[in-house]
Amino acid sequence: MSDEAYIRGVLQELVKIPSINPPGNENVIAERVAGLLKEIGVVSRVDHVSKTHANTVGFLNEGNAGPALVLNGHLDTVPVKEDWTHPPFAGEVVGTRMYGLGAADMKGGVASMIGAVKMLLESKAKIEGSLILSFVADEEGGNAGTRHFLNTYRNLDYAVIGEPTGLNIVVSHRGVMRFRISTFGRAGHASNPSQGTNAIYKMNTLISRLMKQAETYSMDRRDYSASPSLSVSMIHGGTAENIIPARCEIIIDRRTTYDEKMKDVEGEIRGLLGQIEKKDDEFKYSFETTTAVEAWKVKDDSLCLRYGDQAYQTCFHEKPEFTDLGATCEAALFAAKGIDTFVFGPGNIENAHAKDEYVEIDQLTKAAQYYYLLIKQVLVDHR
Ligand SMILES: [Zn+2]
Repeated sequence: MSDEAYIRGVLQELVKIPSINPPGNENVIAERVAGLLKEIGVVSRVDHVSKTHANTVGFLNEGNAGPALVLNGHLDTVPVKEDWTHPPFAGEVVGTRMYGLGAADMKGGVASMIGAVKMLLESKAKIEGSLILSFVADEEGGNAGTRHFLNTYRNLDYAVIGEPTGLNIVVSHRGVMRFRISTFGRAGHASNPSQGTNAIYKMNTLISRLMKQAETYSMDRRDYSASPSLSVSMIHGGTAENIIPARCEIIIDRRTTYDEKMKDVEGEIRGLLGQIEKKDDEFKYSFETTTAVEAWKVKDDSLCLRYGDQAYQTCFHEKPEFTDLGATCEAALFAAKGIDTFVFGPGNIENAHAKDEYVEIDQLTKAAQYYYLLIKQVLVDHR
């Protein structure tokens, strides 16, 4: 069987096993992945993270002296969006593409990684150090799978995350902060507006300021094309159609770049609120930070990236362009443990979490080839 047919077959199998998170229920897919690894000669175990989540962890030369390289991919998917025109759990091949839930995000990456390990074993290359395959649960939830993996396995040096990057090397991703802000007024009969204080109007002042602020971010490009962004993503106000609303609430979704500090980002929003308060002594509000996930950027002296760069040039015969992922991913969790990490995978991120998700089959095989060359770079040729 050609490498392409093998990888395509693996992906098709994985797409056919639903692993929608929540609840995840990755046990079934985790067992199947362990089976696939066994078939190609990789020792693995299924780690039960919780009642609803399970990881598959595979090893080549577990615990051997030398560098430890992790290939990481998640087994769960988001729920199916409406209006799919292809069956989401079939792995249908049409032309150059395979369609299916998770085809890009990121069962495709997992299939390419398994394909790469198969190539490595068939090449009979003698590896120094160890290779760890970390196929995890709950990436689309609270990252329980990767947290469990990182707390269970130690002394890991390098990691590559197989999120869909369109075969680009990703060296940073944005963080996310979310804020819940309420404005407070005074209820009154809507037939006599002067009787009350309209909390929606108070919020309107804030939203106008936020929109102005958001415009400045789109001009503010960092290295790797990362820019901050701000969206008011939810609003709720009023209790009845004939009552002046006494309360209005919004959620702000703020994407942060690696050079922004969380406390500064929070300070910026608090600053806007303070300015409005100064001008309007009837402006009453509450403020709460509900989410805070750090942005990430590869270390400046990253050896992993150097290996990744070399492997890229061997694979694609050109220099890679380093980019930002846009979305967040688990690279930050690996980096927080001191593991030298970058992101590379088949499929496009715009395609993830969207209807008719697909991956170009050609990208699957190229990614597998790349992972194979990277493993060789880190564990075979580095001497
Ligand atoms: Zn993903």
